[in-house]
Amino acid sequence: MSPVMGINHATSGAAVWLAATATLPAFGTDIFPLAPAGVLAGTLVCAGAALLPDADHHSGTIAHSVPVLGRLVARSIEEESGGHRHGAHTLLAAVLVTVGAVLLGRVTTTVPVLGLVPLGPAIATMALICFAVKARSLVQRWGTAWLVGLASAVAVLVFAPDTSGWFPVAVGLGFVTHLVGDLLTVEGIPSLIWPIQVRPPRAWRRTPALRSVWKGNGYIAVPLLGHAGSLREHLLGVALGLYCVYAFGTVALQALHLDVLPH
Ligand SMILES: [Zn+2]
Repeated sequence: MSPVMGINHATSGAAVWLAATATLPAFGTDIFPLAPAGVLAGTLVCAGAALLPDADHHSGTIAHSVPVLGRLVARSIEEESGGHRHGAHTLLAAVLVTVGAVLLGRVTTTVPVLGLVPLGPAIATMALICFAVKARSLVQRWGTAWLVGLASAVAVLVFAPDTSGWFPVAVGLGFVTHLVGDLLTVEGIPSLIWPIQVRPPRAWRRTPALRSVWKGNGYIAVPLLGHAGSLREHLLGVALGLYCVYAFGTVALQALHLDVLPH
């Protein structure tokens, strides 16, 4: 069974980040100060991070990122985590990945001209944006996707050099958005307290309506979208995509106005 399509995961990651940073009053203010450039860079990082859980799937987008090596890495993650939609589709994995992003955020180096640059976030941004543009089918070839990733990483370094605050937040939010997306399908995700997998009692398992929410194998689902790849999933993907274009465009205009146009 194929998971929610990569394109819809990437779109939902971008939409959630834009909604959180551009719309909520708590963001972009004293609590979470974020310049428009940070919002735009974070959109791409969050979209890419929303693909990460499917790294456990050897036919997923990430598995195809680098010839041979990508598939080997995906296959070993699949085996380590117990297979697709197991360990990598859990809150535990989300916490580990976010902690990893915090640590990666501290990896810096000094480069001539630019000075101190966040090397860790730059490399992670390159990989995540490469996955994001490939999943959105914005480019056809992986070579082109890596080039777009590299160009984006350079842009992030030049225009939004202060990655320390928003980078781990974008990675963690993207990862959790993926879990929510899969939760909304019939197939569902493992228990929220994985690796502890609690199975429902027998009487529960006999009732189809209850069984579809909390499954015999301990998986949980809120199957509003039906099966993965359904018409409902596609319609939601299109709606979120339109929102992304609107919100990204608005913030981009804001960024140009603040940084380029004198006033
Ligand atoms: Zn998934």
